Amino acid sequence: MNTLEVKGLSYAYPDGKPALKGVSMYAGDGECVGIVGPNGAGKSTLLLHLNGILPADDRRCGEVVVCGNLLANANLHEVHRTVGLLFQDPDDQLFCPTVREDVAFGPEQFGFPPAEIDRIVRDALHEVGLDGFEGRSPHHLSGGEKQRVCLAGILACNPGILVLDEPTSDLDPRGRRDLSRLIGRLPATRVIASHDLELVVDLCSRVYLMDGGEVVASGPALEILSNEPLMLAHGLEKPHSLQHRHPHQ
Ligand code: ADP
Repeated sequence: MNTLEVKGLSYAYPDGKPALKGVSMYAGDGECVGIVGPNGAGKSTLLLHLNGILPADDRRCGEVVVCGNLLANANLHEVHRTVGLLFQDPDDQLFCPTVREDVAFGPEQFGFPPAEIDRIVRDALHEVGLDGFEGRSPHHLSGGEKQRVCLAGILACNPGILVLDEPTSDLDPRGRRDLSRLIGRLPATRVIASHDLELVVDLCSRVYLMDGGEVVASGPALEILSNEPLMLAHGLEKPHSLQHRHPHQ
């Protein structure tokens, strides 16, 4: 079962400032869960813990449990295989001279059959609407194209759990719509942090609202996001599509 559970996670960056304070959250098998909150709430920091990018050292306390197994330095390779993380900034993820090499990197690392890698890359690029981009240089692409190459690199590994940090931030409306449909039909368990609250309304059954490194509210997405006083109190706005909806409808 592709489940993800965070229990009482606290973390401070090396400057000593706490970025997470006792965060707990859960994503069930196949569920799509949203993380919302103002800038600096701790969303990206939380996501970086979900596949062990930030280390389980003495600046972290609490637990991250992936598919029932406690995340620890000893099982990081397995966790990277299970949890695909899309970084907020595509330039943190792209480092090869060609799109093909970037998308192939994960499957090669995880020992996918070499004879199948070309097909896997082609299919992943097709999924994100970038057919034929194999030979292009990632650094000469638009922001939206880079974001989609990053997603292709993750889809190519076929992870059971997808963690997406602001997946639509660089996309134009069509790219955003296509990506929303793509994310919506994936069978994986999904955790999405986004300021794009319409995306969260469309895709997520439940949300966690974070502020100041803490989860300040959680529950059904429509209930949390249509609670205007709650949203305003945490630097957000009620999504346009929910303007006429009341929290307990
Ligand atoms: P969000 O994704 O919700 O905008 P972040 O997780 O990026 O929030 O940031 C949470 C807090 O941690 C903020 O106060 C931010 O300034 C701080 N922070 C984020 N990254 C770093 C870093 N690399 N070093 C030090 N502090 C950081």
